[in-house]
Amino acid sequence: MPARNILVINCGSSSIKFALVNEAQEHFPLSGLAERLGSADAVLHWQRDGGKDSLAIPNADHRIALAHLLPMVQGAADGHLHGIGHRVVHGGESFTRARRLDDQVIATIATIAPLAPLHNPAALQGIEAALKLFPTLPQVAVFDTAFHQSMPEHAYRYALPEALYREHGVRRYGFHGTSHHYVSHRGAQMAGLPYASSSWLVAHLGNGSSTCAIVNGESRDTSMGLTPLEGLVMGTRSGDVDPNLHSHLARNLGWNLEKIDHMLNNDSGLLGLSGMSNDMRTLEQAREQGHPGAALAIEVFCYRLGKSLASMSCALERLDGVIFTGGIGENSPLVRSKTIAHLKLLGLALDDAQNARCVRGVAGPIEAAGHPRVLVVPTNEERQIALETLASLG
Ligand code: ADP
Repeated sequence: MPARNILVINCGSSSIKFALVNEAQEHFPLSGLAERLGSADAVLHWQRDGGKDSLAIPNADHRIALAHLLPMVQGAADGHLHGIGHRVVHGGESFTRARRLDDQVIATIATIAPLAPLHNPAALQGIEAALKLFPTLPQVAVFDTAFHQSMPEHAYRYALPEALYREHGVRRYGFHGTSHHYVSHRGAQMAGLPYASSSWLVAHLGNGSSTCAIVNGESRDTSMGLTPLEGLVMGTRSGDVDPNLHSHLARNLGWNLEKIDHMLNNDSGLLGLSGMSNDMRTLEQAREQGHPGAALAIEVFCYRLGKSLASMSCALERLDGVIFTGGIGENSPLVRSKTIAHLKLLGLALDDAQNARCVRGVAGPIEAAGHPRVLVVPTNEERQIALETLASLG
């Protein structure tokens, strides 16, 4: 059977990221982004065969952008496109794995929208447009939350009145499941261990960040919760704060919920702490030049990350390794070394030369000799979505 091609689509409210994944090729034959959809400045950018190109598509919506994409995809796939994998952020408790799209699956994704009011409706826009344009192609929804549905109840329940869980689905779901799954599987391959009997702590560190405890190929705990705000310090998200902060700000400063929500999600994290940027690379440069806010933001980020990994270790009986991934995890020796320095009680220590070597896509072990394994593993969410899409197609 020739290698199969899957188009992976990730829709935001005004954007579509896409990649054509060929199961036999490491590089994507075609990838790109349509952005500012619905506006006069709508534009499609793509990369193919090492070349980049753009096309203005004024006022295009998701369907028109996908219609522009179709001939390009068919060309790059030599006319052999096998299916489409859609990234969907929230699968609630309904989806424990990727699912082939039909009317019932679409209706269920819509009912979960209150849990992801920005993301699920955007994904549905893309799904509906793609189904109209490619009615004969099998299409699959791959959920960010599905991998974490294996968490035990003691990890996913909040200590809140039970009715909030039973009647309103208030529980911890976790996100970044596609990435945690992919890198833990790759990590086991790199270490020569069977994935089905291995134990990992993963730190996915990008603009959004989360940790995960993975035992025998299953998520047992993760730092994000009902929403992606819980847990680590992120680019603009606060991560954990005292839940009474909301009432404190409302009573003392007269802030309403929208204002508090916006502050916690958009003005906090690395940006809020540093007062200058949400971007780790920028902060590292500013720290070098003596910027105190940048230095503090990096310290808090790494301490909180170390604390989260230590708490995740409660879900493991044995540690086969810690894995760093995501833009920061794959590229910042500074963050890795500061974080691991907080985890001496787990026996962790890094080899400085190996740590410095693993950047810009270089994978490998970075632990000091005689210490527990620490790996840098570049994530590849598009490939994982394509693999899960192919698995659902049978
Ligand atoms: P997203 O969550 O949007 O996919 P990424 O995984 O691409 O984000 O991660 C983006 C983050 O990675 C940014 O904070 C960026 O500064 C950081 N990053 C990328 N390269 C480096 C680097 N060389 N050193 C430090 N941080 C880096």
